[in-house]
Amino acid sequence: MKLICIGRNYAEHAKEMNSAIPTEPIFFLKPDTAVIKDNQPFYYPDFSKEIHHEVELIIKINKAGKNIAPEFANKYYDEIGIGIDFTARDIQNKCKEKGLPWEKAKAFDGSAPIGQFIDKKNISDLNNINFHLTINGNTIQKGNTKDLLFSFDTIIAYVSKFFTLKTGDLIFTGTPEGVGPVATGDQLEAYIENKKLLSFEIK
Ligand code: MG
Repeated sequence: MKLICIGRNYAEHAKEMNSAIPTEPIFFLKPDTAVIKDNQPFYYPDFSKEIHHEVELIIKINKAGKNIAPEFANKYYDEIGIGIDFTARDIQNKCKEKGLPWEKAKAFDGSAPIGQFIDKKNISDLNNINFHLTINGNTIQKGNTKDLLFSFDTIIAYVSKFFTLKTGDLIFTGTPEGVGPVATGDQLEAYIENKKLLSFEIK
């Protein structure tokens, strides 16, 4: 199973990072060792002093596909979830400065907590999904899929040109604005609409 993560897919987040708004999807991979399930805690790694949360909706791929046409992309997922694309921002900034790959900053163990998934049949409009992250009960990030630069179907079509998608692969679809640091002891909760699907502690 692989995790494919889309970068800069909300314009306001690209702006807060002083990054250009992309004209085609930007993506990177995380290995399966990045996944944290079942609301298990995230252990703050000793190699970073600046771990940032990025709350993101996740598409779960339900069958194998390659070169998927955008008009058929919706047949490749039944479920939507929510998770965190944890980022060691201090390390990422150094990698960016030097033009080096981001994996150390993005794909480390535990960098992808994922919550429960919901059937997309229960979502009335995929282009109008509200989601948000709370830390210690305060809303810290919120987004809506109407602000996506590249829709779920566009992402699937684009990514599948390069990588064969397989059953169980997860696509993180990008974070809205409001990213920031987490600290030991924080309790993070992520919601799609009013449904809490993920809840875990930073240890
Ligand atoms: Mg992200």
